[in-house]
Amino acid sequence: MLQLYVPLNFLGVLYREIKQSLADMEKLFSLLEQNKEVADQEHAQALQISELQGAAIRFAAVNFSYESKRQILFDVDFTIPAGSTTAVVGHSGSGKSTLSRLLFRFYDIQSGSIQIQDRDIRSYTQSSLRNAIGIVPQDTVLFNDSIAYNIAYGRPDASHEEVVAAAKAAFIHDFVESLPDGYQTTVGERGLKLSGGEKQRVAIARTLLKNPAILIFDEATSALDSHSEQMIQAQIKEIARSRTSLVIAHRLSTIVDAQQILVMDQGHIIERGTHQQLMEQRGKYAQMWERQQSGMSDDADDAEDEDKL
Ligand code: ATP
Repeated sequence: MLQLYVPLNFLGVLYREIKQSLADMEKLFSLLEQNKEVADQEHAQALQISELQGAAIRFAAVNFSYESKRQILFDVDFTIPAGSTTAVVGHSGSGKSTLSRLLFRFYDIQSGSIQIQDRDIRSYTQSSLRNAIGIVPQDTVLFNDSIAYNIAYGRPDASHEEVVAAAKAAFIHDFVESLPDGYQTTVGERGLKLSGGEKQRVAIARTLLKNPAILIFDEATSALDSHSEQMIQAQIKEIARSRTSLVIAHRLSTIVDAQQILVMDQGHIIERGTHQQLMEQRGKYAQMWERQQSGMSDDADDAEDEDKL
């Protein structure tokens, strides 16, 4: 019986491994699929951002659809001055994350122009563009590999000391040290499962290590526990201080200090200004703010949806 059990057990393990590899391959293919229309122009240049000047970002009359039948962004026009933070709010599906996908050039736009340092991003090589941008996504996908690998992913040549320094700055070092194999602990789907807050802190460490001139932060839709939330907000503010940043926010209280706030509705920017200016306008933003403050909703998306009821 035992003789039969061992090979059967091995087959079971093998089956799970193959299934997982296929799932990974599926992810890879869907990424390749996504990027297939985006190619470097013949004389594409490397994007180089001077640390002193930073990089201004401009969306100029951008129109975009993922599929020909349904337009997602309409004449979207705004500038993020170098070194400043622009936050985007609006209900679910209004096009907020699409802005970050376009800046990262996962897709090309149908008309208008997206510029960094006054040049269309299509004139830069994709690799240099993506090197200049660090993303802290809503839901970080971890590779089935060590936590050290996952942090160093943004800059594979980083030394172990640099990985540890980034983890310390992202307040995840003590947690990593408490794991059975420390920085060599396998995480991801087949390894240790991390909480939403821990995953976002890995993403923050990754971004700190990458040290990009441009930062995109996609706030988690679902609230993390308030300790993680506060820590992550404080870290993002710190990272954003010296960078040109685009913050996609769900909780308005996290973006009151942004130099510019854009309110999106069905692919249009319907209001823009600082928190103070938007409150004085007494429009959609002020309504969303009052709802969130009164505790009727914790989420800008819900506040909008409630408005529609
Ligand atoms: P949320 O707050 O829920 O993250 P969002 O404002 O960021 O929403 P987007 O993700 O930018 O919204 O999506 C805008 C619209 O584009 C949605 O209607 C969505 O269904 C559509 N969309 C997003 N990705 C794709 C895609 N790959 N193909 C087709 N349509 C898409």
